[in-house]
Amino acid sequence: MKEKIYLSSPHMGGTEQNYVQDAFDTNWIAPLGPNVNAFELALESYLSQESHVAALSSGTAAIHLSLIMLGVGPGDEVLCQSMTFSASANPIVYQGATPIFIDSEPDTWNLSPHYLEEAINARIALGKKPKAIIAVHLYGMPYKVDEVAAIAKKYDIPVIEDSAEALGSSYNGQKCGTFGHFSILSFNGNKIITTSGGGALATRDISNKNQALFLATQARDDAPHYQHSHIGYNYRMSNICAGIGRGQMEVLDAHVALRREMNLFYKDLFSNFSEIKVFKEYNNNLFSNHWLSCITFNKPDKNNNPNALRESLMAENIESRPLWKPMHLQPVFKNSPYYGNTTSETLFNTGLCLPSGSNLDQGARDRIANAILKYFKR
Ligand SMILES: *Cc1c(COP(=O)(O)O)cnc(C)c1O
Repeated sequence: MKEKIYLSSPHMGGTEQNYVQDAFDTNWIAPLGPNVNAFELALESYLSQESHVAALSSGTAAIHLSLIMLGVGPGDEVLCQSMTFSASANPIVYQGATPIFIDSEPDTWNLSPHYLEEAINARIALGKKPKAIIAVHLYGMPYKVDEVAAIAKKYDIPVIEDSAEALGSSYNGQKCGTFGHFSILSFNGNKIITTSGGGALATRDISNKNQALFLATQARDDAPHYQHSHIGYNYRMSNICAGIGRGQMEVLDAHVALRREMNLFYKDLFSNFSEIKVFKEYNNNLFSNHWLSCITFNKPDKNNNPNALRESLMAENIESRPLWKPMHLQPVFKNSPYYGNTTSETLFNTGLCLPSGSNLDQGARDRIANAILKYFKR
């Protein structure tokens, strides 16, 4: 069997182990320590001058803390992009609140401004104003930031920007991860950079960062003994993981360039396939990190469809994956309200994510190209 080609696997730059070794040498194994501070600083200077970053145990934890800090509690409603990974929505339920799912729009595959506003009006008419909007930059593609921000402002509802897949992407020259009231990042193993597992919360308000750190470290009051006035969480990033993150920050831009090269590779490969569309930026104001490169079949049929292509690639030990299944179609969320049409459902039924890692060399690319051409009998 040929070596497996993964959708997106960790890609170390080389210096990560030095920072981890430093942590061992100085016995900074426990949470906090110099790597955590330095990793946060590196993220802050990468994102923007106004960013304050708290390194956490996961992106999910960052969303959870955002909801807590926005006061979301039992009986509340939170608007959330339906087409996303479940981690965008699960923390809403942790808080005893109800997710209200919104369809995607076809340009970016992200939150539809039209259905977002329709949902806000409908929920207000029912007597309940939503407490927050969770918008996602799916596959690294920036959502319609200006349109979503205008609606958020009009109705005075804060935005949690789920930038888990979009570190290195930008919108009108401004980095993703700087647009929300709270913005979250993920460094899970398959993301654009990894700390083996981890996440971060970014905010323009330093008091929000301090509050996040307080909650993430068991909400200890200022006292010599263990004194608590709030419920706390164990959500901080460890100094070991942050060491990996420091090394990864040194190669982030290079890895974004390589992911974008993979996207070009697929654009080239499919350039004369009228039946396939490669997902790309719909205008020049967008810069996607192309975390994953995706295609859609214009008219899938019995012979040509995403699932058959996926199985055919699997036979060559090449991993591919369906697009995110929308949350409003998930059994666990079957009772949650949904506003929209069939855009996200159609994307799910016609799309496929292809191997996109920054570590795919020419040999891997040749194997992918040959397997795809073989499937389409070209
Ligand atoms: C990965 C991911 C998350 C969660 O991040 P973790 O670090 O795995 O908890 C949240 N939202 C989206 C869209 C993601 O892809």
